[in-house]
Amino acid sequence: MGEVSFIPVQTVEAAISIWKRYPPGEAVFMAGGTDLLVRQRQKLLTFRILLYLKSIRLLANIEPDENGGWTIGAMVTLDDLAHHPDIRERYPMLAQGVASVASPQIRHKATLGGNICLDSRCWFYNRSPFWRAEYPQCRKASGGGRCYVLPKSKKGCFALQSGDSVGPLVALAARLKLVSEKGERVVPIEDFFLGDGINYLDLRPDEILTHVLLPPPRAQGVFMKFRPQNNLDFATFTLSVIPPWEGKGARIVVGSVASKPLRARGAEALWDQGEEDGKRIASKAVEELRMVSFVRGSVAFKKRVMEAKLEEMLRSLISSRRYS
Ligand SMILES: Cc1cc2nc3c(=O)[nH]c(=O)nc-3n(C[C@H](O)[C@H](O)[C@H](O)COP(=O)(O)OP(=O)(O)OC[C@H]3O[C@@H](n4cnc5c(N)ncnc54)[C@H](O)[C@@H]3O)c2cc1C
Ligand code: SF4
Repeated sequence: MGEVSFIPVQTVEAAISIWKRYPPGEAVFMAGGTDLLVRQRQKLLTFRILLYLKSIRLLANIEPDENGGWTIGAMVTLDDLAHHPDIRERYPMLAQGVASVASPQIRHKATLGGNICLDSRCWFYNRSPFWRAEYPQCRKASGGGRCYVLPKSKKGCFALQSGDSVGPLVALAARLKLVSEKGERVVPIEDFFLGDGINYLDLRPDEILTHVLLPPPRAQGVFMKFRPQNNLDFATFTLSVIPPWEGKGARIVVGSVASKPLRARGAEALWDQGEEDGKRIASKAVEELRMVSFVRGSVAFKKRVMEAKLEEMLRSLISSRRYS
């Protein structure tokens, strides 16, 4: 491994301008480094220059905006976010989502921006070179012609979106502020995920996610992360659920089961229309979701557990609203 230079940058503009001085791929943006450095060790990524974004102080704030929403800097650590009293009160599902990531040590380093930009993951890809040598044709690892998850597929990669903050942020209709040399743009987080494990994010190489914009909270939602063992593992799936408010706006978002977070739109519509049977809404959701990857559990297993967990969450949300 060649020598790597570590450059702490003070502004977003400086980061982009230094990035531009190097040939493509030589300089990368690093936040907490908890994923980036693992991928470097696994030789999934090589670079010469690490542009350290956590030294940009302006990106580490959590602030209310003038419309009743909140703005979170991309360099806020998951630990700070999980413990922030206003976020816990107004957006509890987001606090729960980030608190479920990995371990306390990792959450102290890792950032919200890094969790959103976390690369898609696959059992055949996020491995040592020695292990990957058994699967040399993987489209994502080597640009080969095969996918070991869906061997009959002719194209595409089905690596999984895996950041636990993403489901809650989609349910909350968060938007992302992205800055590049071309200027600034704001995109709904749902559109940030392109649905392919290789061409994964709507993020240009010279672009930096600077802020997450949260609209004012409406009805309070709930979050759950399912993993077979309660250790520091990635999710088999996450559920982020928000009840309807005045007959609209129900959200049922499933994370970690496809290359983008999935919304159960038919089930959301059923709930918006006044359906109060949690079992019917949960069955509809599981039936309509397109999950193909067996990574972290077979599709049949994921669907069975998901239906039961979702029904439990819906029942509790529906009964608490009925009697409130
Ligand atoms: C043992 C272990 C367990 C883990 N368990 C979980 C888990 O349960 N759930 C989970 O969600 N994650 C888990 N992770 C993955 C990772 O730690 C987290 O997702 C973390 O939030 C990544 O944030 P980071 O700041 O460290 O990102 P980094 O590693 O610094 O960056 C991740 C990627 O995002 C890019 N990036 C970072 N910030 C920006 C930005 N602002 N703009 C543009 N690009 C950016 C980087 O270039 C890099 O490609 C685990 C990791 C380990 C090692
Ligand atoms: S989903 Fe298929 S192509 Fe993508 S990383 Fe896994 S095995 Fe490779």
